[in-house]
Amino acid sequence: MNTPAKDLTGSSVAGGTPETDQLETLVQIELVGTLARQSRDASLIAPIGSLFLAFLQIGYVPLMSILAWLALVTIPDALTLLRSYKFDRVPRTLAAMRSWQAHQTLIHSFAGLAWGSSMVFFVGDATPIEHEMKIVLVLMVVSALAVIPVSTSLASLTGFLIGITAIPLFHYFAGSHPGHLWLALGSLILLGCALHFGRIAHQQIRAHVLSSAINDRLASALSDANLTINETNRKLQEKNLALTHAMENLNNQATHDELTGLYNRRYILQRLEDQWQDIRRYHTACSIALLDIDHFKLVNDRFGHGIGDLVLKGFASRIQGELRQGDIFARYGGEEFLLVLPMTELEAAGKLVDRLRQIIEETPIIDEPLTICIRSSFGVAELLPAEAVHDCISRADRALYRAKESGRNRVELAGKDN
Ligand code: GH3
Ligand code: MG
Ligand code: MG
Repeated sequence: MNTPAKDLTGSSVAGGTPETDQLETLVQIELVGTLARQSRDASLIAPIGSLFLAFLQIGYVPLMSILAWLALVTIPDALTLLRSYKFDRVPRTLAAMRSWQAHQTLIHSFAGLAWGSSMVFFVGDATPIEHEMKIVLVLMVVSALAVIPVSTSLASLTGFLIGITAIPLFHYFAGSHPGHLWLALGSLILLGCALHFGRIAHQQIRAHVLSSAINDRLASALSDANLTINETNRKLQEKNLALTHAMENLNNQATHDELTGLYNRRYILQRLEDQWQDIRRYHTACSIALLDIDHFKLVNDRFGHGIGDLVLKGFASRIQGELRQGDIFARYGGEEFLLVLPMTELEAAGKLVDRLRQIIEETPIIDEPLTICIRSSFGVAELLPAEAVHDCISRADRALYRAKESGRNRVELAGKDN
């Protein structure tokens, strides 16, 4: 059976959600912790009051009575001190805190009775009422001060206040002096006030503990949410990075030749269209060259396709290494390459390309796993503003054909009409 939760003062806690029950438990545990700390501090200060009250008795009562009372009033303080130093080793469970609270209530009630017993120890039939009033004054001050540390627990506060007033009240009602009635009335009023203000203080402490528990929870929930957001952000960034890489890869694949790493046919044709626009707009020059490896089929036939591939790669990187910034070089298809030379007129293009031809011819195109030398032929044409790009390529192609026809390893320049 589910019994409703009770707080440390014994009153029922609203049986709420597990969330609120958990919060309530936290508040109760924190309240007992505060009680333990404040009780310890009070026990350290209490001897000032008890020694003062004992001092006032010198000359009125025998020393033995004073010492006996001091011993009695010191017992609860000593017990509280001992227990409070052990407090940190107690597991902070609700059950443990409740048991701690119950013991502390007993100790505080005992402390109240010990203070109140000063009436038995120090007041006799011959005690002047003025001296009795001094004792009452000290007890009132102690009662008022006790509200501060003990109000953390209403049970402890009530136990202490009733304890400290019970014996004096009994004494006043049993006494015969007319002043006793006033003292009894005063004590009752003080008891009521101390309980009332103690209750208010208790509620304020409780509200403070509750709000700081809620704040802690909010802060921890906020930091959890922050962690989740950071984690999500991190994952998002990872995904973004992967996406960017994938896009770069795709873009690379769309514009580059897989074997040689050069631009592909589609890309260079697009760039050539751009150049053509520039020529028409700014009247600049631009030449193109078609490059074809001579008798490449023989390389494949003799050494195999793998070596053929190596030769193609070697040719591509050799030419690429000789180009100027701004020149565009692409694999046009098979063992044919297209070179775009912006800001270059036909004659200059012819010279540049012939230098490339010589470079290819002079040094072996690969050395590993075997040395292979190749030659190449070139057809060069200057892009004319009046012609379409593919017409210019056709002129270069015809020039290349002528180079092949005239014995290969040559550069042929295309005329404006052929
Ligand atoms: P020519 O001097 O007239 O240009 O003769 P050629 O042998 O170079 O030209 P041909 O057009 O007869 O042969 C081109 C060869 O290039 C045929 C084809 O198998 C080979 N080839 C095309 N692409 C590749 C490739 O990616 N790798 C390899 N290894 N060979 C290729
Ligand atoms: Mg060829
Ligand atoms: Mg060819």
